[in-house]
Amino acid sequence: MTSSDNEHPTEIRLEVIAASAEPTWADNWNFRSYLFQNVPSELVDQTVHTLNKEISSKIDCTKCGHCCREIQPFMDASDIAQMADGLKETPEKVLAQTKPEDHNCVSFLKKPCPMLKDNKCTVYQFRPRDCREYPHLDKPDFLAGSVGTIENYGTCPIVFNVYNRLKTAFPYDPNIDYIGDSNPEDMF
Ligand code: SF4
Ligand code: SF4
Repeated sequence: MTSSDNEHPTEIRLEVIAASAEPTWADNWNFRSYLFQNVPSELVDQTVHTLNKEISSKIDCTKCGHCCREIQPFMDASDIAQMADGLKETPEKVLAQTKPEDHNCVSFLKKPCPMLKDNKCTVYQFRPRDCREYPHLDKPDFLAGSVGTIENYGTCPIVFNVYNRLKTAFPYDPNIDYIGDSNPEDMF
């Protein structure tokens, strides 16, 4: 099912979104390189922020919850302390459900997230910063963080629709190779 206005249908079917990730993977990277080379970063940010507001208003995250099933948030010591406080448990008990990650962070041992019950976050008021900020489309310097955006393209309906609408906002020729010999992940 899609929710739609007349001009821009919004895709919310998770299976359609997931299936489109692989076929569009190369094009998504090429478009990112096009933006780097041709569109001022401030204009990209302004457009992403506007699209994010518009599309987020059409998607009900409480009915989706896909990020909580598929993505493992990184948590630092303050996230763990806050969650433990909210759960009235010790930080050690929360930490026992996690594994170490880079940058002194941890993530939950498994997915879906153990804090997700009946498709709802049981620690919503105390959820980690990574969860509060996901899908990170209201931040400055979109292009610098767009590696994650492309990785989330097949997971989050907001990311999927924002990135596709960005291609409409900044039309480019997908037959031109904007990446060339460079490593697209090094372009910032
Ligand atoms: S802590 Fe809550 S918001 Fe974060 S992934 Fe788990 S269920 Fe989702
Ligand atoms: S942020 Fe994206 S993946 Fe997470 S619940 Fe909202 S629409 Fe779904």
